[in-house]
Amino acid sequence: MSDQVLRGSCLCKAVRFEVRPPFLRFIHCYCSRCRKATGGVRATNIALLPDQFRWISGEELISRYDLPEARSFARQICTRCNCPVPHRSRNGEQVIVPVGTLDDEPSTKPTAHRQWGSRVSWVAIDESDLPCEE
Ligand SMILES: [Zn+2]
Ligand SMILES: [Zn+2]
Repeated sequence: MSDQVLRGSCLCKAVRFEVRPPFLRFIHCYCSRCRKATGGVRATNIALLPDQFRWISGEELISRYDLPEARSFARQICTRCNCPVPHRSRNGEQVIVPVGTLDDEPSTKPTAHRQWGSRVSWVAIDESDLPCEE
């Protein structure tokens, strides 16, 4: 495991955390849930093991929402600035990190466009070397 540490934080900087590569997944997802959750046309998330993740501050400000009809879809925000922050998967096995919350840039790139068939029609592909998966 690399000892590179990437720092992340919310918009107001009250919530801070650290992640340690390598990542289990680093993907763009275009599904309707990810669009709602981010307010954008896709989510770009990193998944890693819980022992590769550490809260530095602000954990007490975090609010969680588990989408009832989903198997595992959840979202966490900082309640001070309402910015998305990382969350544990419902089964506790992974931590999902919205990549835009990282202050340091990962040395790797996303590996796929997931739920490509669910994208809004005007989305243009900007990383055409990546596979588009349904
Ligand atoms: Zn905040
Ligand atoms: Zn999605």
